[in-house]
Amino acid sequence: LESLLIRNVSKTYANGVQALADISLTIPPGMYGLLGPNGAGKSTLMRTLATLQEPDQGQIFLGKLDVVHQKEEVRQTLGYLPQEFGVYPKATAEELLDYFAVLKGFTERASRREVTEGLLKKTNLWDKRKQKLGGYSGGMRQRFGVAVALLGNPKLLIVDEPTAGLDPAERIRFLNLLSELGENSVVILSTHIVEDVSELCTNLAIINQGRILLEAQTQEAVAAL
Ligand code: ADP
Ligand code: ADP
Repeated sequence: LESLLIRNVSKTYANGVQALADISLTIPPGMYGLLGPNGAGKSTLMRTLATLQEPDQGQIFLGKLDVVHQKEEVRQTLGYLPQEFGVYPKATAEELLDYFAVLKGFTERASRREVTEGLLKKTNLWDKRKQKLGGYSGGMRQRFGVAVALLGNPKLLIVDEPTAGLDPAERIRFLNLLSELGENSVVILSTHIVEDVSELCTNLAIINQGRILLEAQTQEAVAAL
């Protein structure tokens, strides 16, 4: 199992905002929480880890993979659940997951069906698979996002502010689903909600104004908060 190493990563946007200021973190396999207020730099770091933008400086390694420079290789083993999972409202869950599976390289129909069926069951959407995504609740959409993110068993799973739009019942369902994931891969959950981290993550980092204020085991950190 591979850890994610982030070394001296900085990013300043064109408007002069320094979103990341010399970030270094070692993230072991399992559930890892990135906790911080709005504007702290969480999404910038998450998009950078997901190869969607590049840092100005610094290195990121997943095992031997250079995340900044080997984008294609990283994307083959990456799952990314953005803050708001945009879906085509007229497609059904079954259709759209099948489509994403093709994009992920599952070209053979039978194995694709097996994979998508397993994911729809795991995310509790199997009974709703023939419904159009436009009619899904926020929680159902987020769980669908997890199904998409898990295609191909990623070694790195990036989950950005996943509970933002969820009501309390949906939130708990969603967190329970995430809690099953973090065993064989690096799962990074960004959030401004302490409880999301304290309920799920073994380790955490606290970020503010682009800087890491604390890296700790969750138990110790929560006791100190
Ligand atoms: P968080 O996800 O913790 O809310 P962000 O990474 O979205 O933080 O933002 C960090 C800082 O960078 C904020 O001040 C935000 O306004 C700024 N920022 C984010 N994206 C951009 C962008 N594309 N261009 C300019 N500034 C940005
Ligand atoms: P978050 O909720 O993570 O803080 P934002 O609302 O800051 O996300 O960002 C939403 C989108 O707007 C992102 O694509 C981000 O890159 C962009 N963005 C955020 N802040 C700025 C900014 N100050 N200038 C330009 N683009 C921004």
